[in-house]
This record gives sequence, structure tokens and C-alpha cells, in this order.
Amino acid sequence: MPPALCAVCKTERALIKRPKNHQKLCKGCFIEIFEDEVHHTITSSQLFSRGERVAIGASGGKDSTVLASVLKTLNERHDYGVDLVLLSIDEGIKGYRDDSLETVKRNATQYDMELKIVGYDELYGWTMDQVVETIGKKGNCTYCGVFRRQALDRGAKMLGIKHVVTGHNADDVAETVLMNLLRGDLPRLSRSTSIVTGSDASEVKRSKPLKYAYEKEIVLYAHHKKLDYFTTECIYSPEAFRGSARSLVKNLERVRPSAILDVVRSGEDMARLVPGATPDACGCKGKAPPPPQSAADDENVGGCGSSNGRTVGGDMAAMEKQLRANEAAEAAGLETKVSVSRTEAQRPNSQKQQPEQQKTTGTRLPIITKQTLGNCEKCGYLTSQKLCQACMLLDGLNKNRPQITI
Ligand SMILES: [Zn+2]
Ligand SMILES: [Zn+2]
Repeated sequence: MPPALCAVCKTERALIKRPKNHQKLCKGCFIEIFEDEVHHTITSSQLFSRGERVAIGASGGKDSTVLASVLKTLNERHDYGVDLVLLSIDEGIKGYRDDSLETVKRNATQYDMELKIVGYDELYGWTMDQVVETIGKKGNCTYCGVFRRQALDRGAKMLGIKHVVTGHNADDVAETVLMNLLRGDLPRLSRSTSIVTGSDASEVKRSKPLKYAYEKEIVLYAHHKKLDYFTTECIYSPEAFRGSARSLVKNLERVRPSAILDVVRSGEDMARLVPGATPDACGCKGKAPPPPQSAADDENVGGCGSSNGRTVGGDMAAMEKQLRANEAAEAAGLETKVSVSRTEAQRPNSQKQQPEQQKTTGTRLPIITKQTLGNCEKCGYLTSQKLCQACMLLDGLNKNRPQITI
């Protein structure tokens, strides 16, 4: 059988089966389509303004490395006129973050971008290693996520930057939508689907330009562009509920590739039902971009900075390994097949469904209110409580180590 030709250019050999829709593409067309789609997300939601300084939350992992690379490419190709800076957070996790920061330092040189590194120790008086030493491994992702979110904001402020972009991809968004759906938390679901989160004009705005990009396509893009990124998974385990939502997303993707995007779109549609929420979608209806949604109490959305750390069963690691193994075949002109093996827990029938314990709350109406935001009494960070989440967590931590003052 003659080798399949690329569905787009019809001249090159198809080497990639697109995870999003199983379209068979050549390498060049895949890269172009991936970049065009991110460009579309950026322009249709009017994400950037000319002359704006934008910090890329850079972890050294595949998502943020792809984000930095694609933004550099698009900024030059389409003349966005934005000034891109890399902003890295050092959580203080030995054997993980110190190595990934080396990757970010190389990226800064490769992409010719300024790099700023902010440490948890200087911001909070605690490294993640010390947090885990104190509270144990359970629940540490919550601390890390809360600290990380504020750290990016504070780092941006140090740089005088008001816009931080993060590498959250479609899988991350779908996972968060499902988590909030399963928790019955519509307000949070609404915020998590928004491409722009942030607060008042004075605060730092957040956005996710890779919101519609599949994690698998990000891995493929990184591989075929030969990007320099860090693959080791975070040594601390992710939150169990998030892990379950993640397996659910991956299982759905297996039987229906469009499921990830469908969940994201459904999330956006449901978000429109929340009073006070503004439609987001990809803004194709030619509307002005939505005002930023409050994210002050939503600090741990996305959790840990490393998607690798949240990948259940090491799917992405397996995919990367296979891509490397396929290189020889690719060079020989054979069709590259990418498949990810299932782990035991992910086999459809291996999990017996237990009916969830029903909460008997009667005819509870969803409480959907717009929260009033104030400033944290301790650090001034925007919050709906007296203290922001980070300060509440730090309070607990410092009780166990009273000699530390922040
Ligand atoms: Zn092609
Ligand atoms: Zn605070």
C-alpha cells in the first residue's frame, strides 16, 4: 500500500495522526495548523494589545515551553508587538524544580527572552520540601497551587507586568470543568472556562492561549519542533480528585477524540448560565473580549505547574518515549503511529462503579452569587475572605514552626 499523503498539502507523506480529529498530516502542516489555531484563539479573544509586556509562566515543562516557542513565533509572524518575558517560580523541590529551572534558563537563551525566577522561600518563608516535611505528602498540591498562583502575580508585579500567560491546555480545562461539575460548583466552573482570569484593572490578568490545544498535540509539537523541555514528573503526588477527573478526561478521549473540546465548550455554555458571567467561547461572534473574571478564590485552579505531575499513569511520558522510538522509523519514511498504552486503572471495566453517597439536601437551590472582593488583611492580595488562601495556609504552617515570621 502506498504511504498516505498529508490531508492538507497532498504532497508530503502523512506522518502524524492528529489527536484532535485523527486527520493525517505531514509534519510541516501539523506545525502550521497548531500555530494557526493558537493564533486564532489569541486574535478572536483579543488577548494581547500592542506594546504590552507579557510574562510567560515558565516551568520548563512541555506546556509552557511550547507556549513560549509558539508565542515567539506568532509574535514575529503576525507582529503582535508584545514584549515577552519568562517568569519562573522556584517552589523549592529538590531534584525536580532545580533541574527544570536549568531548562528554563536554556529556553531564555534560545528564545532570547528575559527571565525572572521567584522562590517560595523568599515569598513565603517556606520551600515545598519544607511544607511536605511538615504536613506530609497528602494535600501538598493544594499548598503548591495556592502559593504558585500568588507567586506568579507577585513575580509579575516585581517586573511591572500586568499580564501573565500560562500553559494550561484543553485537557487541563476539561479536567477542571469536570471537577467543578462533579462538585456542583457552577460559579467556579464558570471562572475556570474563561480564557482570561484576573481581577480589577490594577491587578495582574491571567490568560491561557493554549486553552483549545490538546495535551497530546502539545507533546507532538514539542517533539517535532525539537524543543528543549523538562520531562521528569513532580515528585509529590497530585490531589486524588483531580487525578480521577484527569483519568476520566483521558478515557473519554480514547473513545471519542473530540470529547476534550466538547467538555470545554460545554463548560463555556454552562458558564453562560451563571448570573453575572460573561460569554467566553472563542469570541468568534466578533464581540469585545469579556471582562476578566474574578479569580481570587480560585487560586488553585490548574494546581501544580507541571502537567506531567498530574498525568495519570504517565500517559504523556509514554507518548514522548514512543515518539523518540518512532524517530528511526520516521527517518525511514514509515508512518508514525502514536498510541498510548492503558494502565490497569484506566481499563474501562476495571473500575466498578459505586454509587456515590447521596447528600440529602432536599431541594437545594444553587447559591450563585457574585462575590465581593477585598484585600487580604495580611498581604493585600485580592480575596473574598479576611485572609487570602496563601495566608490561611501559611498561618497553619507557621503554627507548626513558630520561629518563622513572614
Ligand atoms: Zn502537509
Ligand atoms: Zn494574604
